[in-house]
This record gives sequence, C-alpha cells and structure tokens, in this order.
Amino acid sequence: MLAFTAARLLTPLEVVEHPLVLVEEGRVVEISLRSGRPVPSGASLLDFGDGWLAPGYVDLHIHGSAGFDVMDDSVDALPAIERLLARHGVTSYFPTTVTAPMETTLRALERLADAIEKRERDRNNEDAEGQARPVPLGIHLEGPFISHARRGVHPPQNLLEPTLALFDQLWQGSRGRVRMMTIAPELKNAPEVIAEAARRGVCVSLGHSDADFATAERGIAAGARHATHTFNAMRPLDHRSPGILGAVLSDDRVSADMIVDGVHLDPSIVKLVAEAKGPERTVLITDAISATGMPNGRYHLGSFEVDVLDGKCTLNGSLAGSVLTMDRAVRNLSSFAGWELCKSVAAATQNPARIAGIANKGTLAVGADADFIVLNAEGEVLRTFIGGVECSGLSPKRNVMKENNG
Ligand SMILES: [Zn+2]
Repeated sequence: MLAFTAARLLTPLEVVEHPLVLVEEGRVVEISLRSGRPVPSGASLLDFGDGWLAPGYVDLHIHGSAGFDVMDDSVDALPAIERLLARHGVTSYFPTTVTAPMETTLRALERLADAIEKRERDRNNEDAEGQARPVPLGIHLEGPFISHARRGVHPPQNLLEPTLALFDQLWQGSRGRVRMMTIAPELKNAPEVIAEAARRGVCVSLGHSDADFATAERGIAAGARHATHTFNAMRPLDHRSPGILGAVLSDDRVSADMIVDGVHLDPSIVKLVAEAKGPERTVLITDAISATGMPNGRYHLGSFEVDVLDGKCTLNGSLAGSVLTMDRAVRNLSSFAGWELCKSVAAATQNPARIAGIANKGTLAVGADADFIVLNAEGEVLRTFIGGVECSGLSPKRNVMKENNG
C-alpha cells in the first residue's frame, strides 16, 4: 500500500486540506484527513509538503509533441509524446488524427488501436525502466467529415461527405477504438452518422463547421454533445444569425472545449465561453502538434508541414494546431476567466473524462485510478503519477519535495 499526503487535494471541485490518500493496486482506496488517520503500518508515505494533489490531466485533442505526430509510422512516436505529456501533468489522452487520404488514416487507426490494446494488456502502466507513461484511452477522429468552408488547414482533397458505410470503415479500422469524432452537422447525412456514432458510444463533437443555428441544433438532436475548439474553425457569432456558436453556447446539453493558449482566442472570449458553459461543461484541450516542446522551425501535422514561430503554428497564414501544454492551459484559463484553480483543473480532468465516457479517471475519489499530479500554488506541475507509479523526467523542482518512508 502507498500513502500520499500534501497541503491540499482538489477532487477537483472540492478541496480537502491536509489529505491522506491511500493507494492499492493502482487505485485510490481511501481519502481521509491526515490529522485523523494514522498511516497504515507497512504503507510507505510520500509527503509532498506544500504541494497540491489534483487528478491527472486528460487531453481529448492532441496531434503530437516532442517532434512526433500520433499518425507517424514509428515505434518511437507515442513513447516520446507521452514523456512530454507527463512533464505537463497529462496522464491520459486521445491521440487525434487529421484529415488525410483514407488509406493513410486507416493505417494510423490500426497502429493507434494496437497501441491502445497493448497498454490495456500491460495494465500496470510501467515501462521497462519501471516508470509510468500516460495512457492513450481512445482515438479522436478530426476529419474527414468536416466543412470545406471551415476546414482550417485540413487538406480539401481528402475531406469526405459522411456516410454510414464510411463511418463504419473507420470504426472497423480502429477496431472500435474511436471514442471522439469531430463532424460538421451541415454535411449531407451528418445527422444519421452522428446518431450511429453516438449509439456506438462515441462522443460526437460539432466542429470545423459553417452550420446555421437550426442545423447545429439538428446535430445536437441527433446525439452530438460537445463542440471542438469553440470559435476556431466555426461560422462566427452574429447577433441576428447566431449560427453554430449560438447553439453551442446556449444549449445545456453541449459541453465545449477551447484552446486557451492566448493565440487562438482572445482572453475575453475565453471568459465568455467559460461563463456560458460553466465549470462542469468547459473543457480544455491543447490541439498540440509535433512542434510542442521543440524550438521554432518547420514541423509536420499529419501529412502536411507547418511553420512554428514563437508559440504560433501556421500554414499559409492559417492557424494549424498549437504548441500549448495542458498545465499552461489550466493556468491561462484561471487568469483569463478569473477562475479559481480548482475550476480550471476540472476543465482539464473530470469534464473531459466524463464527456468521453471514461469512468475512474479525472477525479480523485475512492475507486478512481491513482492518476494524479502534484501542483504548486501557481498551478505548475511538480510531479506526475499514473496508477500510483511516478513518471520520470519531470521538473527539477521535484528535488525540493520531502520524501520519507515509514
Ligand atoms: Zn486538431
């Protein structure tokens, strides 16, 4: 048994001062107050001092990091991406495809399904060196069912009109591992594909869309429950023609994610979306690409090239993903929306886990997986644990933490 204590714990939305967290076989078995509970004999205690415990971050939309893209045909890609994610507090993620030729997409889906199934088989999450790595939980299909008018940098020649047959081909190609799908509801047949994907347990997300209000509402009626990088790659909001954004912001069935890097959205728009959707329906994503954690230069996103300069990724002048990390997104949301840290942490933990239908992650509660991070009061990630096992290679600040065994 492992025991952890710190200055406070965020569940995320509730705060426990001086908690004692007991972990057995990778799961939280008890959360109590340090003052009222002796450490069980035989348990080793890790004391994080002034640190705050929070659930590990869950990223629903990430294309790559550390020089690699999740669609790369390389055994080094996911491990490199995961090591970078761990440094920024992410403990599970949904590798996200971009629009590509069907054959390329199907090959990527097969590799990603292999990786997800392999991680399910080695359940202890430790690699050969005994260190934990973030876990891919399912695939996010961003494209090919998106709008030409709002495609962003997705290649136009590979966009497709949705059909049940095409969706099924992608679903079978992923061996049922697609857990999220971004789709433009105005495309012909979109409502029936949305309904079928939702029936198979996919979180259907409206995005890359030029839909008017009524068409977006039809997508929601068919089963869409989320919105992808709200405001980006969407018909703009107009007070007499509210469009998809009017539906996303006003419909309580829908949660919404945002890229809060200070580049994709003005801080006042971040505050507006956060207030419209509230602390239970606001979700942070990174939309990070291979350039994340790397110097300025030219990188790839799926099969196309992107220029990265000082935090901005562009292709022919259009924004093309981000180099955002989740810890920074959390701090930015607190700063832009004026939210306490616990609410911003919820937008990176329990909200994404819930909308993707993942039980036992995104919260610190009895029965949950012991995926947690240690933050300082400024929201910087000091340490990352998955199933109670630490990820290595974190910030040098970890050396200041006290450890004892007893
Ligand atoms: Zn994306």
